[in-house]
Amino acid sequence: MFTDFAQALYQPLADDRSFAEFTRDLFLNITDYSKSEDNPIINAEDGTLTAYYNGKNGISRLAKKISSHLDTLKFETYLEKYPSGTPMLICEALLPFDPQINEYNCYERSATLFKDIIITAASQKRKSRKKDSGTSETSMVCVGDSDFRTRLLLESAGICANDNCNKPLSITKGDAYRQHFECVVIDDNLPKDSFENNIAFCPECAAKFRMATTTDEIERVKEIKKRLLHDAADKQMLSESQVTDGVKRVIQKISESLEEEPNVELSYDPVTVEQKLLSISKPLCTKVKSMVTEYYSIVHNTFLQMDKAKAIRFEPFTLQMKLNYIQLIEGGTEPIKIFDQLVGWLVTMTNEDRTVCEIVVSYFVQKCEVYDATTE
Ligand SMILES: [Zn+2]
Repeated sequence: MFTDFAQALYQPLADDRSFAEFTRDLFLNITDYSKSEDNPIINAEDGTLTAYYNGKNGISRLAKKISSHLDTLKFETYLEKYPSGTPMLICEALLPFDPQINEYNCYERSATLFKDIIITAASQKRKSRKKDSGTSETSMVCVGDSDFRTRLLLESAGICANDNCNKPLSITKGDAYRQHFECVVIDDNLPKDSFENNIAFCPECAAKFRMATTTDEIERVKEIKKRLLHDAADKQMLSESQVTDGVKRVIQKISESLEEEPNVELSYDPVTVEQKLLSISKPLCTKVKSMVTEYYSIVHNTFLQMDKAKAIRFEPFTLQMKLNYIQLIEGGTEPIKIFDQLVGWLVTMTNEDRTVCEIVVSYFVQKCEVYDATTE
C-alpha cells in the first residue's frame, strides 16, 4: 500500500519536510505531464496528501488519474540526486516489500515498486462502504473482535506466520505490551471472516501480501495456514497428555542432574536475560540470570537427551511454553508476575519442586521463548 511505502521512505528521503510536501514530491517525481497538461498533484491540498501518507485515505482515485502518466526513469533520477549513503538506507527501508532489493538495483526497484503500487491502486474498485455493508461488516469481525485476533496470534505462536519471517507480532517496552500484527484474509473469494481464511502476519508481510497478490502467493499462504491448523490439532493433543508426562520426567531428570557438578559450557549469552528483565524487575533479573548461569547447560542437555530418547518432543514443549506466555500477556498479566505464573503452571502440571521449575522457566527466558527481547 502507498502508505507503507511512503512511511518507509520518509526517514531516508524526507529531510525534515512535512508529510504533505514529501508525498507531493514522491508523486511529482514518478509522473510526467507535458506542458499543456495539468498534473493533478501540483494542486493537491496538503490535507489530502497527508491523508495519503498516513493511510487515512487510499490513493486509488488519484492513481486512476496519474496511472497513464507514470515515468519510472524520472523517479530513478530523482533518487540518484540523494547523497551517497542513501541507497543503503533505501534498501533497509524497502527490504520488507522487496527481498531482492540491494544497493545496486535499489533505484530501479524502488521505482518499479512505486509504479506497481499506483497501478494496483488504480485498478482497485472503489470500496463503497455503505453499499456492501453485509460483507464489510462481517470482514470487520476479524479486525475488531479481540478473541478472533487472539486466536490467530496464538495459532502462529506470536511470530509472523509468513515463510522466512520470524518477526514477533507484538512490541514490548518495559511493562507496556502492544499487539503489532494484522489479520490477513488469505483468499478474497472465500469467506473473509472465517478463521480458516485468516492468518496473522507482521505489518510488513501483510502489506506485501496484499500488494498485487498472485494466485501462487495465495496458494503458498494457504499451505502455511494448513500447516498451522494441523499443528494446532497436534498441540491440543500434546497439551493433554504428552506434555504432562514428558515434562514431569524432564524435571525429575533435571533435579537429579542438579546434584552433579555443574557442567560449565557457555554456549549462551546471559546478557539477553538482562536486556529482557532488567527494565521489568532487578531482583527477578538477578534471580533468573543466576539460574541461567548455573544451570543452562544441564537443562539444555537434558532436553536434548530426552528429545532424542523420544521421552519428550522438545519443539512442541517450547511452543506450549510460549503459548502460555502469550496467553498471560494477552490476559493482561503484568510482565513481572509472568515468571511466577509460568513456574506455577509447571509446578501444578508436574507436582515437582518449585525451584527446579524456576530453573526450567529461566532456561526458556534465556532461549527467548519467554519475555521476547525488545530489540534495542
Ligand atoms: Zn512477517
